[in-house]
Amino acid sequence: MPIDPTLPYDDDNIFAKILRGEIPSTRIYEDEWAYAFPDINPQAKLHILVIPKGKYVSWDDFSARASVEEIAGFVRAVGHIAREHGLVEPGYRLLANVGAHGGQEVPHLHVHLFGGQPLGRMIA
Ligand code: 5GP
Repeated sequence: MPIDPTLPYDDDNIFAKILRGEIPSTRIYEDEWAYAFPDINPQAKLHILVIPKGKYVSWDDFSARASVEEIAGFVRAVGHIAREHGLVEPGYRLLANVGAHGGQEVPHLHVHLFGGQPLGRMIA
């Protein structure tokens, strides 16, 4: 079920639990601003989720409320992870779903990082 991105942040969402270590995940990268782990249901050879440490429902919420430091730290973390995985030369795709039309299912901002294969059309 898609989430309503206009609702307040829900501390019990699944990615909040992953950040608190209450639900297991495999850490791919972590710093002050971001945490990255594999998607449980990968849609490409490489499918990484990158989430901010702060409590933001969606890209919309993050872009409106996050500090300059949080935004810079998060964006730099995503780029760093892609470089670490050798994805720049072959290329990769970033995706952030927002709300019903975007198909967002988890109400904590996450960027999907896809790579490791040609990714086809942007929208099926
Ligand atoms: P959305 O549709 O909200 O953009 O994407 C949510 C993503 O979270 C989906 O690709 C889904 O497979 C992934 N996901 C949902 N629950 C879990 C979980 O408990 N662990 C991990 N690693 N990924 C999850």
